[in-house]
Amino acid sequence: MKTHAQAVVIGGGLVGCSILYHLAKLGWTDVVLLERDELTSGSTWHAAANIHGLHDNNNISKIQYYTMKLYKELEAETGQGCGVFQPGSLYLAQTEAREHQLRLQEAKARYFKADFHNISRDEAERLHPLVDFDGIRCIMYEPDGGNVDPSGVTQAYAAGARKMGAEIHRFTPVTATIQQPDGSWIVETPKGSIHTGWVVNAAGLWAREVARMAGIELPLQPTEHQYFVTETIAEIDAMDRRLPSVADRDGEYYLRQEGKGLLIGAYERDMRFWAEDGTPLDFAHDLFPDDLERIEENMMRAISRVPAVGTAGIKRVINGPMIWSPDSAALYGPVPELRNYFCCTGIIPGFSQSGGLGLMSAQWIVEGEPQYDMFAWDLARFGDWADKAFTKARVQDQYANRFKIHFPYEERTAGRPVRTRPAFALQKDMGAVFGLNYCWEHPLWFAPKGVEPQETYGFTRQPWFDHVGAEAKALRDGVGVIDISNFAKYEIKGEGAGDWLDRVIANRVPSQIGRSCLTPLIGKRGGIAGDFTVTKLGEDHFFMVGSGMAERYHQRYFNEVARPETVSFKSLTVDLCGVNVAGPLARNLLSRLTQENLSTASFPFMRSRRISVAGVEAIAIRVSFTGDLGWELYVAQSDQVKLYTALLKGGEDLGVCPVGSRALLSLRVEKGYGSWGREYSPEYWPQEVGLDRLIKMDKPDFLGKAAYAALADRAPREKLVTIEIEADIADASGGEPIFLPDGTPVGRVSSGAYGYSVGKSLAIGFIKTAHAAAGTAVSVAILGRDYKGTILAEPPFDPRGERLRS
Ligand SMILES: Cc1cc2nc3c(=O)[nH]c(=O)nc-3n(C[C@H](O)[C@H](O)[C@H](O)COP(=O)(O)OP(=O)(O)OC[C@H]3O[C@@H](n4cnc5c(N)ncnc54)[C@H](O)[C@@H]3O)c2cc1C
Repeated sequence: MKTHAQAVVIGGGLVGCSILYHLAKLGWTDVVLLERDELTSGSTWHAAANIHGLHDNNNISKIQYYTMKLYKELEAETGQGCGVFQPGSLYLAQTEAREHQLRLQEAKARYFKADFHNISRDEAERLHPLVDFDGIRCIMYEPDGGNVDPSGVTQAYAAGARKMGAEIHRFTPVTATIQQPDGSWIVETPKGSIHTGWVVNAAGLWAREVARMAGIELPLQPTEHQYFVTETIAEIDAMDRRLPSVADRDGEYYLRQEGKGLLIGAYERDMRFWAEDGTPLDFAHDLFPDDLERIEENMMRAISRVPAVGTAGIKRVINGPMIWSPDSAALYGPVPELRNYFCCTGIIPGFSQSGGLGLMSAQWIVEGEPQYDMFAWDLARFGDWADKAFTKARVQDQYANRFKIHFPYEERTAGRPVRTRPAFALQKDMGAVFGLNYCWEHPLWFAPKGVEPQETYGFTRQPWFDHVGAEAKALRDGVGVIDISNFAKYEIKGEGAGDWLDRVIANRVPSQIGRSCLTPLIGKRGGIAGDFTVTKLGEDHFFMVGSGMAERYHQRYFNEVARPETVSFKSLTVDLCGVNVAGPLARNLLSRLTQENLSTASFPFMRSRRISVAGVEAIAIRVSFTGDLGWELYVAQSDQVKLYTALLKGGEDLGVCPVGSRALLSLRVEKGYGSWGREYSPEYWPQEVGLDRLIKMDKPDFLGKAAYAALADRAPREKLVTIEIEADIADASGGEPIFLPDGTPVGRVSSGAYGYSVGKSLAIGFIKTAHAAAGTAVSVAILGRDYKGTILAEPPFDPRGERLRS
């Protein structure tokens, strides 16, 4: 075994082998994979190994298509069979909501130029004569769907990696990982140690144990999962082709051909955790005892849909472990608190995603950033608040509801509340319906008296539509109070603080006390890694506000610029609460509670001051994400209730209204404002989202300067535009594809909402530059149907920013 390597991958399951292969493919051939047993000895060997292309998330669809294509290429490249069967998949809708979901996916497939299309019942019966399609209102067909051989695929990745020079050592358990002062690692095994630049934790079921070797906890929890395979079914035996798989998600089971029988698997409500206190080290090619009773309800639904299942004997039952994150997406990316330690674990649909995950992981390690925005998978979306109790509650919910439809604005309730602010109880009494942002409970909307504060979900407009509208209008007509405590807040202080910050952000740090600036943070590929408001509070003293959900994600970037000992960098997200007082009467309201002169002459837009409001010391910044006249006020947590109450009481006669984040979404969309994670992501260039004007290339250096310089003169591939849509019963919410009237795909929605104060259904979206001119007629696939839209020349609310500056 070699003693030095560029990277050591821990775990020879499907995912570890894919990462090894892709590292080598990107040129890192001095890489080693260590497997404690045989390859595939975690979840991989016993998987049903179904594969699909389309996903609700556009980028995950991209990597799933990449993976499906890769399996065939791997076979050709390595000579190792992957056992790829692609007889197609049938997707069934029993409910209207499921039909909307499938039709939206069909529209997305048109956008990706992928094949996922509606078929008639006759056609479906011809494709799968064993299925009873009664009660099915819509059927989609994905010709590429199918399954692979779990061991074949893993061995193919391994063979491909070896061919390029990578080493694989089986029966070589990693026993310790020790960080070195220079950021490299010593990886210890009973066969010797390896000094490596990067450690990759791909230890699947044992990812928690391997992470603990480096001193970190991962929010992961294994569960049992079962499927069974029937004896030979005569009709299948008599066929000269393979049957498509069946995704009857309303029935909560999956079904496909296996040999001459059928394979049926289920995510049952009465699920079982496994290995809560740690995965046993002696577990390898093992299974649990069968417990088919637990999945009986799902089985009965499968039998009523495919009666042949009911008469065939059961040949084999597999009850094996899989390991879940709290939202069932992968835990992937470099651990922000460590140097050069990468995780890629907690993967449920590993066979649909292994190739893309391997590629994205290798890109991140070798090139510094993946090509797609994969925040939905980034382990930094969880903080240490994702403890064992939270993880278990969420995993239970994810497992038991695996096939439930994910509606726009969905907020799962399991395991909550975890992080609350002092005003939580007060807001609850006021009728607040809460959502989560980095696990903080924050008001989404407020139910008026007599209305149940209850969320409902659907693709169409929901009962909260009017209540959110009333909040948005109250703010635009008078004044609203928005709890913005979930924004991330940072303090940078000490001699040299401004110089350090100037080397991080792309805009110039404000030079005068009391000034604020907006700034992008530039990523490794020159895209938008973040957007912040930076305020100079005093000499060598700065206050910065950014995306709350991205706080741990941004930490990676802040770590990149060496900070002099004289400069302290502190998160104030927990310590401070925030409130945005906005609307044309915001000044009237605030003036009642403070002695400060709030006139524009004295306190103009983008200026800040420490003020006393209602007897509370606050950092006041004259900005508002609503696009209206407004101030953001940041106060100590202990003062939150006092300030919030004073604002609402003090403005009763002005019609002051508590406003939730759902109304804020509508207000910012009316104003065409982008938001991190939607419009701003490392995938988009600054000139594509209109942030290039904030980049100061004449500064000596800042994060991502060289990468941006390399693309600064390039024409935008796409443009961010605002679209008015002739929608009636539903609005865009993000992800919907956009077409020209002749059906040519030209873009996708990044954010959507009804603009209550302008009376229009609106979307912000990316459109290919050649088609992004104002006035262009487009269609937006809401509910999977084409709704007419027009690209607007400017945002419909206050395009010249007069209200903001008034
Ligand atoms: C019953 C069942 C059915 C499934 N069906 C499907 C399906 O139809 N489609 C689909 O896409 N997915 C399916 N899955 C999920 C799929 O199996 C997983 O997504 C995939 O196997 C995860 O692979 P992995 O490489 O991340 O982890 P694992 O397969 O768990 O691999 C981890 C590896 O790390 C090794 N390791 C651990 N600790 C150490 C150490 N200290 N030193 C060295 N090596 C170590 C282990 O021995 C193991 O080989 C199914 C899972 C189950 C349980």
